[in-house]
Amino acid sequence: MQIAERCVAYFHYTLTNDAGEVLDSSEGREPLPYLHGVGNIVVGLEKALSGKKAGDKLNVDVSPEEGYGVRNDALVQVVPKAAFKGVDDLEPGMQFHAESNAGPVSVVVTKVDGENVTIDGNHPLAGETLHFVVEITEVREASVEEVLHGHVHGAGGHHH
Ligand code: ZN
Repeated sequence: MQIAERCVAYFHYTLTNDAGEVLDSSEGREPLPYLHGVGNIVVGLEKALSGKKAGDKLNVDVSPEEGYGVRNDALVQVVPKAAFKGVDDLEPGMQFHAESNAGPVSVVVTKVDGENVTIDGNHPLAGETLHFVVEITEVREASVEEVLHGHVHGAGGHHH
């Protein structure tokens, strides 16, 4: 069967950036399942998989707009070191969860300059063109429960 709304598809993937570095891969793991049409995976990849079937292999390039978004400079802020109470040895690369008007966000420290700490709330892959190599291993109908929940149940999916 072809991938369409109310289908669960399983696929192996390797994700690289423009520089050819591997960012993520299902190698050595079970194929990744997702429920088609509800945004479980980035929209550009979901579009490309529509209509494909088990056994299909494809290369998909996804623009930032259809991937993890473009970088937003407004999400880069300088905050006082005092905002990180109880954190010793604050250094670039450390991740924190912060509350924002739009709900919880993940930020990463990009610079520590005396009392000034620069944080970046962009997704780590924002602004990146994503290059996927995909092999679809299985396509099945989603259960009613999966459609209602908006995600896959069972192996590789949610258990609850
Ligand atoms: Zn569920």
